[in-house]
Amino acid sequence: MLGTLAKWLRILGFDTFYANSTMDDSEILRITKNEKRILITRDKALSSTAKRENLQTIEIKSTDIDEQLKLVLKNIKLDENNFLSRCLLCNTLVEEIDKNKIKNKVPEKVFKNNEKFWYCPECNRIYWKGSHYLNMIKKINKLKQH
Ligand SMILES: [Zn+2]
Repeated sequence: MLGTLAKWLRILGFDTFYANSTMDDSEILRITKNEKRILITRDKALSSTAKRENLQTIEIKSTDIDEQLKLVLKNIKLDENNFLSRCLLCNTLVEEIDKNKIKNKVPEKVFKNNEKFWYCPECNRIYWKGSHYLNMIKKINKLKQH
């Protein structure tokens, strides 16, 4: 239910496990506990159970991504050094890659305008700090101020 938020958290560098729809509550609780994760959910019942089991829990009520992010950032410390350190599709840590190795894999304009590139060793997706990234930083800074 919180797929957009999960992507955002990965962009920000948080190790984010996204539970798929086939997982039941007990499995989600088990993973939260075993991997010492913070449970972020819109499911009221799941949130209550997690709190009862003393798991760190953030219950999301809003459907608005800005509101969701604001609430999460209030509860979790953000480290700007981690920005863009994870693949937003599969959560793997990305690695810096020599610009020349990806020449034909990104749009020409992107190649020309950027010096640093990263790739995901798991799914091979390539990342760079383009306008999307800069807009994201702007948005986060704005959210933090309110
Ligand atoms: Zn990946």
